[in-house]
Amino acid sequence: MNISQTADMNLGELKAGESCVVVSVGGQGALRQHFLDMGIIPGAEITIVKFAPLGDPVEVRIHGYELSLRLDDAAKIAVTKIDKTEEAETPKKSKKTHTAHPYLGEPGVHHDKKTEKPLPDDHVLSFALVGNQNSGKTTLFNRLTGSNQHVGNFPGVTVDRKDGAIIGHANTVITDLPGIYSMSPYSSEEIVSRDFVLNNKPDALINIVDSTNIERNLYLTMQLLETDRPVVVALNMMDELTGNGGSIDINLMEEILGVPVVPISAAKNQGIDELITHALHIAKYCEKPLEQDFCAPDSPIHDSIHAVEHLIEEKTKACGLPLRFAACKALEGDSLILDKLDLDENEKDLLEHIRVKVEKKSGLDPSAAVADMRFAYIMQLCKKCVVKPKQSKERARSEKADRILTGKFTAIPIFILIMAAVFVLTFNVIGAGLQWLLEQGIDKLTEVTDLALTKANVNEVIHSLIIDGIFEGVGSVLSFLPIVVVMFFFLSLLEDSGYIARIAFFMDKLLRKIGLSGRSIVPMLIGFGCTVPAVMSTRTLPSDRDRKMTIFLTPFMSCTAKLPIYAFFVSSFFPKQGGLVMTGLYLLGIIVGILISFLYKKVLFKGEAAPFVMELPNYRLPSLRSTLQLMWEKAKDFLQKAFSVILIATVVVWFLQSFDLRFNLVTDSSESIMAGIAGFISPIMKPLGLGDWRITTSLISGFMAKESVVSVLEVLFGAEGGITAVLGVIEAGTLLIFSLLYTPCVAAIASFKRELGWKYAAAVAVWQCMLAWIVSFAFRLIMLACTGGFA
Ligand code: GDP
Ligand code: MG
Repeated sequence: MNISQTADMNLGELKAGESCVVVSVGGQGALRQHFLDMGIIPGAEITIVKFAPLGDPVEVRIHGYELSLRLDDAAKIAVTKIDKTEEAETPKKSKKTHTAHPYLGEPGVHHDKKTEKPLPDDHVLSFALVGNQNSGKTTLFNRLTGSNQHVGNFPGVTVDRKDGAIIGHANTVITDLPGIYSMSPYSSEEIVSRDFVLNNKPDALINIVDSTNIERNLYLTMQLLETDRPVVVALNMMDELTGNGGSIDINLMEEILGVPVVPISAAKNQGIDELITHALHIAKYCEKPLEQDFCAPDSPIHDSIHAVEHLIEEKTKACGLPLRFAACKALEGDSLILDKLDLDENEKDLLEHIRVKVEKKSGLDPSAAVADMRFAYIMQLCKKCVVKPKQSKERARSEKADRILTGKFTAIPIFILIMAAVFVLTFNVIGAGLQWLLEQGIDKLTEVTDLALTKANVNEVIHSLIIDGIFEGVGSVLSFLPIVVVMFFFLSLLEDSGYIARIAFFMDKLLRKIGLSGRSIVPMLIGFGCTVPAVMSTRTLPSDRDRKMTIFLTPFMSCTAKLPIYAFFVSSFFPKQGGLVMTGLYLLGIIVGILISFLYKKVLFKGEAAPFVMELPNYRLPSLRSTLQLMWEKAKDFLQKAFSVILIATVVVWFLQSFDLRFNLVTDSSESIMAGIAGFISPIMKPLGLGDWRITTSLISGFMAKESVVSVLEVLFGAEGGITAVLGVIEAGTLLIFSLLYTPCVAAIASFKRELGWKYAAAVAVWQCMLAWIVSFAFRLIMLACTGGFA
């Protein structure tokens, strides 16, 4: 069959509700492989669900799940239209239940007890938890390890790495790998997961599979089985599947796959003990999969894979790669594996020859042929063992919810409402309340300590260091904590419920204009509250490039700590135009941010944006346990990372403010080192009309916390009126703009440092100051020109 003749349109040309069959998949590199890995292969049926409110991207259904893709990308997929009435699969009668499974499920059936060579008892059994995104990985990991977790980074990349021991088994360590759809080496997550499995060689892999979306999830399973590690498959979400009348013949599936398969529900805590038993067993006895050759013997590429295996057998041994995995990847043309194999010219020719043969025989290029082989196998497997529910309550519920939440006219208003609610609750109600409580506590403690120190007649310098340096610093670190914790509580609800994926879906078109994808909108919005949680929340962005660029843009979103500055100047200088000035400042921040993003896109982030092919999972009830766990993690993370930076900075500032150049304590702040530095810097500020050393001092202390700009100004200029005598209206405006754009506070810089390292963090601080200077200067020139101030 020559398929290419039957293609009559591309996927992007279909209308909502229409269906088609994929004829060929265009595009290249990462994007194309991503298409294939997500199941967009020739022959697959696709139904258009809806277009995003702004017309792009499009949501489609394929292999029983929802996926969103951009129209540009959809245009690369050639299809032919079909008439399709949603045919519900008629459930087959199945006598077998999904729970009892005496086959492989019985630990030890598949190793010879006489020759068994278990790992020694003192060996720490290592596990990797691998699975698709939204398959319940976090929930399962929390179940397996309880609170006994350690969070870090994978070497060289800012991808979260979580390790923990399985509850009740101290001699184990389980690592939560980033959620991935395939072992293709494209996103940094996929590289991390793949390298971990191939290089760290954990004693066993725990593969979590979303049983309500089993075809696509098993695609990863196929590749894991090829890696020649012991694998146990955990079929998660069984509560949903059986609740809707579906079932899975676990025994048969085990028999076919040759590994233990355990039905579980991570959310309902079912089957976890059994999963642990099997995982421990296969790891201890090194029970590898019984089967790796997952293609039907009549498949056009069956022989070719074996031919490649034959060809590279020696080389794979030399570099320690699993044979079957390397053979498939070599056939796909995976450059990383090919480099590792280091084939000679002759072998390369032979490989190319095999690849050409595959293309001729199957009518597909090798990577599509391999994907096709895997999906064909999975389809057969599912036909044999899976009874799908006629209809799923959760799906129906999601569709209903999406009619409003991603509806053409309702999506964006509701999004704004939800974000506004999150903001009010975080910054005005819950977060602010907690902050107030904490402040009271710290104040009390400071008071008591202050009194005690005075009573004990402690040296003046030490006294001041403790009260004005350390207590102040600790206090300002802690004041961020309630906000971070409450913000992440809401974020976790939004993320785990599946709503963030929807936000990415309908905001993508807008964000793409500045070179980002829809997901970046969330951190940026949080930036209007506080840059610290905003930067921390970029962790969930899938692409490294997007993450960096988003982090760099967050300082342009004017954070709430700057509000007191605005309020102070508005009441002193613009009492009538308050609203206008405030709105103007926020808008200016956004506009400068957008302009700068064009610059970043051209200069710093030239590469292509990550492919945006994203799953839209069913809405699910987030588990309280996971949410609390995340809050705890973020709180710990923030305290550990921010404490040192902020404490050092506060003590340094305290020192500069308290001493003069001969290291004597000063009583008049104009004699302090700080005033000296301010005096040194103020010539730079002079062209802005802000040459007064007191203003520079207040801006420097604003680096500690933006609120303190105002308190320092009040102290240095005295109460009402003091500052209006020094500054004109234009200068006040200039100062506002400078405060809007100049370096983020030290807590924010600490979070920059955590995500990007010292160099970038320092660069951001310097760059924002430069930019603030340029914009304020431009503003001043324009204002002077308009008002004839030059004359
Ligand atoms: P991850 O993206 O793979 O880490 O998935 P999560 O652990 O965040 O889970 C995604 C969503 O699925 C959350 O809302 C969970 O509460 C929910 N979930 C996880 N496991 C189960 C399960 O076994 N049954 C049901 N019904 N929901 C689950
Ligand atoms: Mg998760």
